[in-house]
Amino acid sequence: MGKIVGIDLGTTNSVVAVIEAGKPVVIANSEGGRTTPSVISFSKDGDRLVGQMARRQAVMNPENTFYSVKRFIGRKHTELTTEAKRVSYTVRRDESGNIKVKCPRLEKDFAPEELSAMVIRKLVDEATRYLGTPVTGAVITVPAYFNDSQRQATKDAGKIAGIEVKRIINEPTAASLAYGLDRKDNQKILVFDLGGGTFDVSILEVGDGLFEVKATTGDTQLGGDDFDKVIVDWLADQFFEDQGVDLRKERQALQRLTEAAEKAKIELSTVGSTEINLPFITATADGPLHLDTTLKRSQFERICQDLLERLNIPLEKVFKDAKLSPRQIDEVVLVGGGTRIPAVQELVQKLINKTPNQSVNPDEVVAVGAAIQAGILSGEVKDVLLLDVTPLTIGVETSGGLINRLIPRNTTIPTRKADLFTTAEDNQTSVEIHIVQGERDLAENNKSLGRFKLSGLAPQPRGMAQVDVMFDLNADGILSVTATDRRTGVERRITIKGASTLDPSEVEKAIADAEKFAERDRAKKDRIEKLNRADSLVAAAERQLKDIALNYAYQISFERKKEMEKLIRNLQQAIASEDDYAMDRAQSELQEAVYELSRELYEQKALDEEDDLFGGIRESISSFANRGKDDDRDSYRDNSKEDYKETRESRKSPKQSESRSRRRPSIAVDYDDDDDEWV
Ligand code: AMP
Repeated sequence: MGKIVGIDLGTTNSVVAVIEAGKPVVIANSEGGRTTPSVISFSKDGDRLVGQMARRQAVMNPENTFYSVKRFIGRKHTELTTEAKRVSYTVRRDESGNIKVKCPRLEKDFAPEELSAMVIRKLVDEATRYLGTPVTGAVITVPAYFNDSQRQATKDAGKIAGIEVKRIINEPTAASLAYGLDRKDNQKILVFDLGGGTFDVSILEVGDGLFEVKATTGDTQLGGDDFDKVIVDWLADQFFEDQGVDLRKERQALQRLTEAAEKAKIELSTVGSTEINLPFITATADGPLHLDTTLKRSQFERICQDLLERLNIPLEKVFKDAKLSPRQIDEVVLVGGGTRIPAVQELVQKLINKTPNQSVNPDEVVAVGAAIQAGILSGEVKDVLLLDVTPLTIGVETSGGLINRLIPRNTTIPTRKADLFTTAEDNQTSVEIHIVQGERDLAENNKSLGRFKLSGLAPQPRGMAQVDVMFDLNADGILSVTATDRRTGVERRITIKGASTLDPSEVEKAIADAEKFAERDRAKKDRIEKLNRADSLVAAAERQLKDIALNYAYQISFERKKEMEKLIRNLQQAIASEDDYAMDRAQSELQEAVYELSRELYEQKALDEEDDLFGGIRESISSFANRGKDDDRDSYRDNSKEDYKETRESRKSPKQSESRSRRRPSIAVDYDDDDDEWV
């Protein structure tokens, strides 16, 4: 059997590790580095270079050297910020809105996952060389806020590289695994991960070999690269002032500036001041120009103040989500090269008042955790369970535009939740399952993750159909939704291509909006529920009248029926006029009448039972009240209440696909019965 390795597929650098003799080992590449730059380039002869070699010739070959590809993986072109597109190669949009990376040297375009696959392949080859046995599988880490399409694209990258991706795990979770493995007592850990392109912060509870992520948040557009960019801008602005030339407009100059900026940033982690010297950075008609300046640590901290402050936003939120205070944190784990910046360390230390834990190399800790997870999967590491959480609530839109929440925010994954839904209209033969994510009470204020239609339901009165909706959120954070009609067995499963994004800013906004609009949303929700209840009561009363006409035409007096019809009309009018007082009154009168009639029918049934001649009638009663269940008296009585309960619960009917006025444009949805995951 082939070996399974752990891969930290980073924005800037990637690392591969493996379990050997029960211990994680980071594998050095053939150039001697323990981290491999996530850089791919194509040389003059069209040769593919990956890692340090690619990085080294980047200055000379900026258009054919691809870095920070992780920013693009699994994303749509429209989701990119101007900032994200600021790279020295060309990023374009293809006809489907996906991102393509242009390689002029090969005269072809690459998908980001193809380029990531080249990095994975390089790491797998290095591991195979080191181990002397083939590597067939990998556990790959992703930032905690990667959405489904980004996770799926990462999986695809593994597939393109020719390996089986056994599991996708969150980077902070992997880091906690690397740190917490040998712990016995209960600990609350803050994982602060500032990598090249992303910032993740998580709170985990660790103890007795069990890891649980209590809360996780972050910023997918904040990383060490952004600190480099600030230095680049500082240098370029200074140069423009002195020489009148904007170096950012020249590809090669920009590449050299970026490299020099990173070097300066790294040096400033250990020294107070650094020289930046770039001879022949550009040339004008008057001859070559050189860049020569000094950057002090204090100056660097000043120009990066905004970035440092942005780190505080997810930090505050993670504590709020985990319902913990900084004082309750037992350990702080620093992950990612960016945490070597002294100002970043100070910021964390100030908040938690604890010296951060750096005993595992921050550049390698994620790969080490991934290797441990690989070891758990292959059976080499035992007694460790890994739990993760989902960042926002996921549910289904129900009638009136409300939400039935199936998986609440911060639920431990993998998880599987199911609920039963019914129709809101008579003879409804299809229901639309609209999956939404967010914290607001009304579906329209949340994010639409996808929708699909379950057709082929047998025509029945409203509230009779039984549709099981199952949410299956796997350990990779990928959601599959199945809807099944109990009566016909018809089943549909959703496959979403290019699901919408889930940036930390979106999560924050979703939660903040939910708080901000809580009162207004609640009022709207109460109103919709009230209308739904009244609507359902009308339907139940009409059904009762119909049943009486069919089976009890002679037992129930004409006046009673007329009275019932009048009460139904009253309630309908009250609903139409949206007169709350009239609605309450009409509803209570009609409810009373329905109850009275149910009681009378029950007594009638008891009489019927004494006479076998009326056996046929008994069957009809039971199909009305019992919905085909047991036929004894108790269940009949219970079910007459149940009947009311169902009318109340018919608000849980999935949104109408045809009949109601609320229609929304649907996003690209493929139906695929065989698929159990989004692709
Ligand atoms: P990672 O994604 O964990 O490999 O982190 C890469 C980021 O860490 C890059 O932006 C690096 O420039 C940055 N980095 C690495 N070492 C240092 C250091 N000593 N000081 C500051 N930043 C660093």
